[in-house]
Amino acid sequence: MVYVQNNSLVVGRFAPSPSGPLHFGSLVAAVGSYCLARQGGGSWLVRIEDLDTPRVVSGAADAILQTLESCGLEWDGPVLYQSRRNDRYQAALDRLQQSGLLFACGCSRKEVLASAPHISEEGPIYAGVCRTGLAQGRRPRSVRIRVPQQQVCFADGVFGPREQRLDSVVGDFVLRRADGLFAYQLAVVVDDAESGVNQVVRGADLLSSTPRQIFLQSCLGYSPPDYIHLPLALAQDGEKISKRHGAVAIATGPGRAPDLWRALRFLGQSVPEELQNGPVTEVVAWGVKHFDLQQVPSSSQVADG
Ligand code: GLU
Repeated sequence: MVYVQNNSLVVGRFAPSPSGPLHFGSLVAAVGSYCLARQGGGSWLVRIEDLDTPRVVSGAADAILQTLESCGLEWDGPVLYQSRRNDRYQAALDRLQQSGLLFACGCSRKEVLASAPHISEEGPIYAGVCRTGLAQGRRPRSVRIRVPQQQVCFADGVFGPREQRLDSVVGDFVLRRADGLFAYQLAVVVDDAESGVNQVVRGADLLSSTPRQIFLQSCLGYSPPDYIHLPLALAQDGEKISKRHGAVAIATGPGRAPDLWRALRFLGQSVPEELQNGPVTEVVAWGVKHFDLQQVPSSSQVADG
């Protein structure tokens, strides 16, 4: 049996955004999270992150689910749709509000940029303009949370010990956007906690969001899951393979074994050559049995997908 830090069976998840079909980069996250969850007999959940409605592409969620099915990656329980969970995010926001951690911010994106003390790899740092109340005549736009002047530390399963000062790298961040939508950072924390997720396996592009999520978990009284970030699949030009980048969709239907095989190889796993054209069930079974976290490289790699 494989247990996570708190001695319970793994509850893993895959949380795609339906902004396009499943591509090789997201298949890597799906396969990695699936194998690591199933390895010790744990469960694997699927959540459709369709909160950012302007970016949702109609039909993409169903296409992603069909591709997962074609790949033999079967999930437990019903699929969770973030777009149906606004009441849960509001309840969490209310709790944070009651703790006195939130404030209304009247700054536009332009104003945040103009007043930023510096710009980190995460973007302009919020200068704290509305921290102590909105200036006369300003209307509230977004809701932000005050971050402490402290280091947030965690141990990643692939990238090792990580630390981040939220105040100097991120600043007070937005939990409800000016367009009224709840921020990804809040939704992901609420969803993972309420679904009992204790192992988060996802792409390394979210490594730098993890401290924000750990901070929110501590504010909401949730215990943090284990974090395992996987190397990113890059296109030939060195950019992350993404839907926006015009990534090739993983097809739906029979014959997906080569895609799964490639995803396992990408993750450093020595899946035998002969499984490349075998039934998907055999490739998946091999992955569940043999997946070895120690073999996963921490550097992003070019993948022609
Ligand atoms: N929805 C995010 C994505 O598709 C993943 C979020 C997560 O795994 O926490 O990149």
